[in-house]
Amino acid sequence: MINPFSKLGISDDVVSAVKELGFENPTPIQEQAIPVLLEGSNDFVGLAQTGTGKTAAFGLPLLELIDFRSNKPQALILCPTRELCLQIANDIKNFSKNTPNAHVVAVYGGANIMQQLREIRNGVQIVVATPGRMLDIIGRKAIDFSAVKYVVLDEADEMLNMGFQEDINDILSTTPDDKKTWLFSATMPPEVRRIARNYMENPVELTMGTKNTGNVNIEHEYYVVRARDKYAALKRIVDFNPEIFAVVFCKTKLDTQDVAEHLIKDGYNADSLHGDLSQQQRDKVMQRFRDRNMQLLIATDVAARGIDVNNVTHVINYSLPDEIESYTHRSGRTGRAGKTGISICIVNSKEIGKIRQIEKIIGKQFTKAELPTGFDVCEKQLFALVHKVHNVEVNTDQIDQYIPRIMDEFAELSKEEVIKRFASLEFNRFLDYYSKAPDLNAPADERGERGDRRDRGERGSRSFSNSDYTRLFINVGSVDDFTRGDLLGFVCNNGKISGKTVGKIDLKGVYSFIEVENDTVDALFSNFRDVKFNGREVRIERSGDAPVSNRDGGRREGRRDGGERRSGGYGGDRRGGGSGRREGGNSGGGFRDFSNGRREGRRDGGERRRRS
Ligand code: AMP
Repeated sequence: MINPFSKLGISDDVVSAVKELGFENPTPIQEQAIPVLLEGSNDFVGLAQTGTGKTAAFGLPLLELIDFRSNKPQALILCPTRELCLQIANDIKNFSKNTPNAHVVAVYGGANIMQQLREIRNGVQIVVATPGRMLDIIGRKAIDFSAVKYVVLDEADEMLNMGFQEDINDILSTTPDDKKTWLFSATMPPEVRRIARNYMENPVELTMGTKNTGNVNIEHEYYVVRARDKYAALKRIVDFNPEIFAVVFCKTKLDTQDVAEHLIKDGYNADSLHGDLSQQQRDKVMQRFRDRNMQLLIATDVAARGIDVNNVTHVINYSLPDEIESYTHRSGRTGRAGKTGISICIVNSKEIGKIRQIEKIIGKQFTKAELPTGFDVCEKQLFALVHKVHNVEVNTDQIDQYIPRIMDEFAELSKEEVIKRFASLEFNRFLDYYSKAPDLNAPADERGERGDRRDRGERGSRSFSNSDYTRLFINVGSVDDFTRGDLLGFVCNNGKISGKTVGKIDLKGVYSFIEVENDTVDALFSNFRDVKFNGREVRIERSGDAPVSNRDGGRREGRRDGGERRSGGYGGDRRGGGSGRREGGNSGGGFRDFSNGRREGRRDGGERRRRS
């Protein structure tokens, strides 16, 4: 079978190199752009998001078009940041590892210029550069661009945002007139259009994805909280996502430092990245993040530009960007290389208008999400732990020697007791912290927006309070690996009802809520019998009696007296600071503590849960 990259016209040396990188099939942008760029005779404008495989889309054609027998620079790639510069240079080095005599140099500020000059002197065909350092080197007359045939302007909108327009003009003036210019940009503001007009002749234009549309793999959510509860909301989102690996965006350097310091103090694995750090410090932070030795990277827009770290699960906009366009770049840090990701905005009610503006720019609707309650967080953490224990790799050789002593220690306990104790080790820490945590969602009267509970486009406008719908409780949820779509299908198939009769779906951990038109409920109940999932009986009931942690339910009561005081700012949700996460503190007690802690608020609920 012919390799799909060969089919696009890529030579064997390069195909074998990308195969080693795990590229089996071209991404859509590569499929579209490679044949066009391989012709080598056109200027080109590609409207493309980050993380879509853009670097190979221009990098692979360049490798085909360059004459590697000559050691003169033939391609110049300009990009906005040092991180991106290194990333592109590394990628192209990897693509060309089997290409004889291919030389790529990365030219960027904050690093030893002598080394870069030496590499240039030794002969390079591809120069990847940030504008400032490139100009410096041109000013020293240390590079000859007379043989340049291709100039790539990557993340052109970002370069302009960062004020590189003049530098770019100066650099391009040192390259031959007949070179071809390839411009890539995530957005197409008028300034970028102007560049295209000024530097290009009849460029071939490709829009990868819909114009100005964000990556389709990214879901966008926003939470409305009071300004003083922002930090507590951030922590709650993090706690509700035990496997989170996120970039958190703040507006200023000071904010990044403040948020990171508080998170670290509260026991989270976080650090900040901003312009005041030395290059060495920035490298260190990024390396820790890349190696996943850090879970939360708190960054400013500028510092985070060009960060290419795969598998970022969430981007959190702790503050919204001043330039609405920057949102696309921020959110593009997740959902890379075909993975899915979530981009979250924590806003106050005054900022909802900005969310609407962003929606227009990215061409997608946000889901208005509700911050999980303390109870939700505890439950999520508990099951994360349970899954972890279930899936842990056991080093039999090492552990076997200790087993007799361990068995001895537990001899008095039943299997159930042992399991309870292990689960409680982690669980109690969260329970301690969250037992009296307040509801952080801004009260309804502060959320002046269309339809208070507009959820997601297709199902959102029908709210729980809509009397045409009955809210049902079902004892399956995200811990069963259900998505909202899965749950919709599951209920409709088993209840033999049409999806059109279903309103809002609120997926929780071990349970969920689903709204169904009143007229359909009886049919659903009569069809939905003896339904099992993974061997477990599935129950669906009117949620009026349900025991559960919905915000309209009994839990408010539970909190009314003891509810943790909102002290605002960073203090908002903190109780006992880091102890919640760092040292924990197993007070014994296990699940019984849990139900005790919630007893008042869920007076009628405990029963139901146990039965499920
Ligand atoms: P980029 O948009 O160039 O920054 O690429 C985003 C990520 O996708 C990088 O980690 C690339 O290594 C990866 N990638 C690019 N092209 C492919 C492909 N054809 N197959 C799999 N991964 C790819």
